[in-house]
Amino acid sequence: MKFSKEQFFILPILILLLVSNSTCQEKNHTTKSQDDDLSKGKNAKNIILMIGDGMGTSQIYAGFIAKKGDLNMKKFPITGFSITYSADDLITDSAAGATAMATGTKTNNGMVGVDPKKDRVENITEIVEKDGKSTGLVATSTITHATPASFIAHVETRNDYERIARQFLETDIDVFIGGGAVHFIERLDQRDLTIDLAEKGYELCYSMEALDTATSDKIAGLVYEASPPTMLQSRRDMLSKATAKAIEVLSRNENGFFLMVEASQIDWGNHQNNITYQTLEVIDFDNVIGEVLQYAREDGETLVIVTADHETGGLGINGGNLKKGELDPGFTTMGHTGVMVPVLAYGPKSELFSGIYDNTEIFFKMLKALGKDNPSE
Ligand code: MG
Ligand code: ZN
Repeated sequence: MKFSKEQFFILPILILLLVSNSTCQEKNHTTKSQDDDLSKGKNAKNIILMIGDGMGTSQIYAGFIAKKGDLNMKKFPITGFSITYSADDLITDSAAGATAMATGTKTNNGMVGVDPKKDRVENITEIVEKDGKSTGLVATSTITHATPASFIAHVETRNDYERIARQFLETDIDVFIGGGAVHFIERLDQRDLTIDLAEKGYELCYSMEALDTATSDKIAGLVYEASPPTMLQSRRDMLSKATAKAIEVLSRNENGFFLMVEASQIDWGNHQNNITYQTLEVIDFDNVIGEVLQYAREDGETLVIVTADHETGGLGINGGNLKKGELDPGFTTMGHTGVMVPVLAYGPKSELFSGIYDNTEIFFKMLKALGKDNPSE
């Protein structure tokens, strides 16, 4: 085990020192040590929903082992479980899974932002935009892929990437960063949607370098032609930089913001039953989660939720060594599984996310956290 008995012994003394310090020193010290008290009172102004595609408890635990116990996901005060079945199958796909979280509606596998009757259902991005909040999407897949698409689009089949790309123009989304430039530019209908995006006031960024220097309040970050590379290849800190840029831009709005960040490729690593691929993606996600938590801690008005749409691979851990960061994985499938997935929450109203509930509840809990009990309010 990583922690010695001495560290366990020292920890309570440190906590005592911190508590006694904040109670008798100046008052602004107390705000930061009362996160939990704050969350019980006021509503959230901002929400950052972080989705690890395919990330069940074993995927997280593989990251825990690889990081030798140093996991940011351990820092969340509230934990729950999400039940992920879709309208037409015990095993959901990412389209139905993300649509459940984005709209509060269980739909059939493959459908994006519509119910099983193919009727359009309003998503959280559209709802909060009406309140004057800014909105954003960040993904390590194409930005037209099922998970991010479910937060802006309404299509019957998830593979209709060209139509999904066109629907970006029908929204008021402020920032979107991911791969998939090709779906905006090299289209069967011969349209170049980047012209329309520019007309709508978006600053277009075709690389991470361009994104770095972008200054606009509206950013279309099509930073890779197709899918971004894996962490095993050359993606490096793309997710971290894209998330930081999105927060930088969105937080300029004094009415607040909604941001969805997806670690898309945890799913892909597990589809390949490739433990190194999957675990590097979890570590990348966890590092970004640490940065987002730091922002939320300083901001004090941001609710952070970390969850998954489903588990992928039926990953089990059959052995390993925590000190060496080694594990012996086993997979039951190359597809998705039906097990519950964790929900972690931090910040104002985070306590709403404790318990076991359907994935659709994540939508309703987010609205409640913003002080909206009725979605149509
Ligand atoms: Mg996805
Ligand atoms: Zn998948």
